[in-house]
Amino acid sequence: MALLFGALSVFISVLVAVIAGLPLNLTFGFKFPYEGYFVVGFTSTFFYYLYIFKYFKSSFRYYKLLNGIPLAAISFATIMFIQYNIAYITSDGFIHNLPIGDTLKSQVTFLDYLLSPQEGFFFFLGSSLPMIILISRRIICYQCKKSFMEERRLFDSSIDDYLKDLQQVQVQFYKDEINEFAGFIKEKRMLTNFNTKKRNLPDYTFYHLTCNHCNSQYITSKQHNDVGEEPTEKKAYKIVARKA
Ligand SMILES: [Zn+2]
Repeated sequence: MALLFGALSVFISVLVAVIAGLPLNLTFGFKFPYEGYFVVGFTSTFFYYLYIFKYFKSSFRYYKLLNGIPLAAISFATIMFIQYNIAYITSDGFIHNLPIGDTLKSQVTFLDYLLSPQEGFFFFLGSSLPMIILISRRIICYQCKKSFMEERRLFDSSIDDYLKDLQQVQVQFYKDEINEFAGFIKEKRMLTNFNTKKRNLPDYTFYHLTCNHCNSQYITSKQHNDVGEEPTEKKAYKIVARKA
């Protein structure tokens, strides 16, 4: 399945490149070639990374991130190959898609064209961006450090109720009665209008984090509002209970 998403990523990036005529035909919205390589590079790994971050939780390994490199390389070589075969080059070295000047093929070898440093640089920069964005949005297991944790929002709390709620959630969590814990959460949600669509940002939210790799579990709380302080950054959790 990961292979399929990898192939999809490569296919889409080549498709985007062909449709946009990159970098030969700049009529399709991209202002200058290197920006285009960046965008196409981004799409060359995006769907693959999205897949492994979303559905690979339990079997996630860091080395799988390296698979983005061959994906980007295949995509880049394919796009460069297509361009190499249709492009023209003028006497001042300008590469374009109009039949003016000599064909690119007749002037440079494919390898020389493929290794043009700037195109490759922007392409690979773009291809690593999805990974950076997705990593920054996930929490690595505090215990085994080998997997991303699954996060489930439990319920919201106010400054006034926080200490009481904290105590209750800790007690319920350590009881080892899954049904009782679920019942407690359900009740808390009802009391705090958890399922109402238009909620104000609560003062606190409690989360349940689980690692499918080592089975460790955490209850965390996140403070959204605090008088006189900057709002806490996304994913800045405080661990309030753990089973590891
Ligand atoms: Zn773990």
